[in-house]
Amino acid sequence: MTITQNLQDIKSELPEEVLLVAVSKTKPVEAIQEAYAAGQRVFGENKVQELETKYNELPKDIEWHMIGHLQTNKVKYIAPFVHLIHAVDSMKLLKMINKEALKSNRTINCLLQFHIADESTKFGLSIEEAQELLTSEAYEQLQNINIVGVMGMATFTDDQQQVRNEFTNLKRYFTELKTSVFANKADFKEISMGMSGDYPIAIEEGSTMIRVGSNIFGSR
Ligand SMILES: *Cc1c(COP(=O)(O)O)cnc(C)c1O
Repeated sequence: MTITQNLQDIKSELPEEVLLVAVSKTKPVEAIQEAYAAGQRVFGENKVQELETKYNELPKDIEWHMIGHLQTNKVKYIAPFVHLIHAVDSMKLLKMINKEALKSNRTINCLLQFHIADESTKFGLSIEEAQELLTSEAYEQLQNINIVGVMGMATFTDDQQQVRNEFTNLKRYFTELKTSVFANKADFKEISMGMSGDYPIAIEEGSTMIRVGSNIFGSR
């Protein structure tokens, strides 16, 4: 199967309102060019250096999503061009994104990452931490960030019911915020959940954005 065929297969099954983020991490520029030629414009990377290199080498109408854990000292490298940062899980990081966005004269779209998996290694906030962050005075000062939704990663397991429950939880957190702190914010609407192994379940549970790598580009 080619990248082009893989993309066609995935897109043919995708509801229109679900965005496909093609996760190109570790893959060469040529692989991204093939996907680009097939019409794909949204790509996700999880390392700052790699994201920056690929941004410089590839067409400028690509929307680059930073999907991995982001260190505050590296925000400056992607702030001038990044379209969406998926994994924001602290006030410290949010403040740095705001600062660098201001320097670039931009507003940067962000998703709040929630800890939904049954694994201690995955990053993310609890709903209580998110509410505290979003109702703080420090948050109100941030004029150059725009929180447009939530993101989460399910446990890596064969137990489909567990994965489904974790996605249900993320949807519930989204709804809680949507009906409270973000009640008047129409652009808080994204739920980034679902990867190669679990995106069909994620879509059933309300995903608006799936992050798919190996099913498009092959295993890493
Ligand atoms: C690598 C990665 C993906 C894509 O994983 P696949 O299993 O290859 O589809 C999605 N989200 C994040 C945060 C990742 O790091």
